Amino acid sequence: MSARILDGTKIAGEIRAEIAVQVKTLAASGVRPGLAVVLVGHNPASEVYVRGKVKSSEEVGLYSEQYTTNENATTEELLALIGDLNRRDEIDGILVQLPLPVQVDAKKVLLAVDPAKDVDGFHPMNVGYLSTQRPGLVPCTPAGVMEILRRSGILVAGQEAVVVGRSDIVGKPTAMLLINGNATVTVCHSKTHDLPGVCRRADILVAAIGRAGMITREFVKPGATVIDVGMNRVTDQAEFERLFAGNAKREETFRAKGSTLVGDVHPHVADVAGALTPVPGGVGPLTIAMLMTNTVRAAKLRRGGRVAEPSRA
Ligand code: NAP
Repeated sequence: MSARILDGTKIAGEIRAEIAVQVKTLAASGVRPGLAVVLVGHNPASEVYVRGKVKSSEEVGLYSEQYTTNENATTEELLALIGDLNRRDEIDGILVQLPLPVQVDAKKVLLAVDPAKDVDGFHPMNVGYLSTQRPGLVPCTPAGVMEILRRSGILVAGQEAVVVGRSDIVGKPTAMLLINGNATVTVCHSKTHDLPGVCRRADILVAAIGRAGMITREFVKPGATVIDVGMNRVTDQAEFERLFAGNAKREETFRAKGSTLVGDVHPHVADVAGALTPVPGGVGPLTIAMLMTNTVRAAKLRRGGRVAEPSRA
């Protein structure tokens, strides 16, 4: 058996096209949703993410601004910038690219973002809205997981879902969305006993761990849907062999670049799972698409417009 591959790039493209139509409709009523992205310093990975977010905003017709402060920026300077962005009516969404440098109090900065403009969905107010099923802004990656399930026709209600990982930005909100979608949800972490056994109960298994290829065949019930949120760069030859021995295409990339991107799910899981998101090209592209969705949702919510409930499958 070989798993059906859930193509995140294709799904993200569909969402972006839908957003572009919504942006045009809003433009007709004189509203152009605006996104401000704040980047502190010159972290190369963050720069790549921010460029992607700004480019994607432009492609769907959003107004966007990017603020790059120097790497010595203080908490107070960032609070002043966030305060300005909170006050500006043409800015509907504010995204502070993480991680922030050590001298910055990241929690204080994130808490300063107006919850109505919190397109990352990290503000405690939005966390509360999600857990009490009120309209609000849902973290992008978890919302993307739900969109993949929904648009792939994968049943959530009544299913056993296991989420491995309990971070505030991925694991917990994903579990909450699955609960809201009427799944029976178990959340696992580094202290969970018999992790493979718990995971094997899952009809839907979500891996958000940050460990390359940790979820092997033994963790997966035959036919289960496996959503791989992990993004890990493998540079070690032995690790590469463990994951991709015999995969000519990956070997070529690895030789050329000296690294390759892998999820938390071992590629051999494709032999057991019923459906699987690839890495790259699975959950990753959805994260930016859902940021676009959140910016439009924020623009509507701020203007008292009616918007759909947070994503449900
Ligand atoms: P995180 O904050 O480091 O959380 C990792 C979670 O995994 C923690 O809850 C941790 O448990 C658990 N864990 C670690 N080792 C484990 C083990 N051996 N067994 C069971 N559980 C274990 O990471 P994150 O921010 O949630 O991100 C998770 C992954 O998703 C990373 O690879 C990240 O790069 C990726 N990611 C991808 C996207 C995307 O757009 N595709 C977006 C965000 C994140 P404890 O709580 O007990 O420590």
